Amino acid sequence: MDAYSSDWAAQGQRHIWLPYTQMQTATPPLPVVRTAGSRIELADGRTLIDGVASWWTACHGYNHPHIADAVRCQLDTMPHVMFGGLVHEPALRLASRLATMLGGDLERVFYTDSGSVAVEVAMKMAVQYWLNQGEHGRTRFLAFRGGYHGDTLGTMAVCDPEEGMHARFAGMLIGHDIVALPGDDEAEAALDDYLARHVHELAGILVEPLVQGAGGMLMHDSSVLQRLRRLADRHGLLLIFDEIFTGFGRTGTMFAFQQAGVRPDIVTLSKALTGGTLPLAATVASRRIFEGFLSDDPGHALMHGPTFMGNALACAAANASLDLFEQEPRLAQVAAIEGVLRARLMPLAALPWVADVRVLGAIGVVELRQVDDREALKRRFADAGVWIRPFGRIAYVTPAFTIAPDELAFLLDAMGTVLAAGQP
Ligand SMILES: *Cc1c(COP(=O)(O)O)cnc(C)c1O
Repeated sequence: MDAYSSDWAAQGQRHIWLPYTQMQTATPPLPVVRTAGSRIELADGRTLIDGVASWWTACHGYNHPHIADAVRCQLDTMPHVMFGGLVHEPALRLASRLATMLGGDLERVFYTDSGSVAVEVAMKMAVQYWLNQGEHGRTRFLAFRGGYHGDTLGTMAVCDPEEGMHARFAGMLIGHDIVALPGDDEAEAALDDYLARHVHELAGILVEPLVQGAGGMLMHDSSVLQRLRRLADRHGLLLIFDEIFTGFGRTGTMFAFQQAGVRPDIVTLSKALTGGTLPLAATVASRRIFEGFLSDDPGHALMHGPTFMGNALACAAANASLDLFEQEPRLAQVAAIEGVLRARLMPLAALPWVADVRVLGAIGVVELRQVDDREALKRRFADAGVWIRPFGRIAYVTPAFTIAPDELAFLLDAMGTVLAAGQP
């Protein structure tokens, strides 16, 4: 059978390997033929209302014409050119715009092509910053339980060590200090003592601000970030905010750190950066960090450079996505979605098998006491006409900010009906 026959789904599924999937027992993946707005059209003719926005990326919905036009136009001029020694308008414009949006002195943008690598770069930046100052041995990070920063070897080591995804690799990971987020004065004082004893081994503090996403959609108060900024300042540590999930409006402000009134030394961005169309990530450093690499010594240069960094198509998509944030009322849409999520999901907290319901911005989370059969739960959502992908003990929605009110109502009706039907 040739590769172009109409049997592409059955044929090809014998040759692909899916993420985080037990290939022996998992329900086969659903072949998709088309997307539009908040709808996913399946090869069998069904349409699902999308609750996930493709892992939180498609913030303007799928196939937004403004982004599609920008990518098409860039494709005709220059899809890609190497970024070593060459630069181009889409990447430079995007860097200026990101610096303006982030404000303060977060002004130097280093491009990569995935979130994990953006975090790796942030970690390397922090470690090399200290090396360049002649401070050796500061190679570890303080990171937090419930955190998730990526799947590569460097980033797995700063994720929650107990969380199922990476525990089995423990033997090959660098040991970092993974502790509970300091939620009160006592916890801050304990961490203060700890840092006083260990600061000479530490390069920085790494945290997902306000919402720890893939580690369980855990939310914390903005005062936690103020505590971390205080601790970082007191001990001379670099503070890194991983805004790969929270950046670009998801929590109600353009960046989560804006709600806490504190600023990081380094911030990582990806996921919604291109509006969900192309892979792109950025690690943005403050002036002080950047200046720590300026020297007569060539060895003090930042030692990193992905082949496809600054990809012109991806940068054009990201510029178009930022246009949409300027031209359309995205943050107002997020605020409206937040209101609907609160009204519709909070009542589910009364179900005996629901442990917690939490909402922030366009993130709605229902945490269950237990999930016996996650595959069956996912299937029930799809049968109800929605795409919701539960993980761990949680079912969540992170819709496109452009989801229509009737689509959002349909999504939450289906979610409520499936979850109310019985202990999943
Ligand atoms: C998704 C995510 C990453 C990893 O991004 P990839 O593009 O999947 O490598 C890192 N940090 C956070 C907070 C994320 O949500």
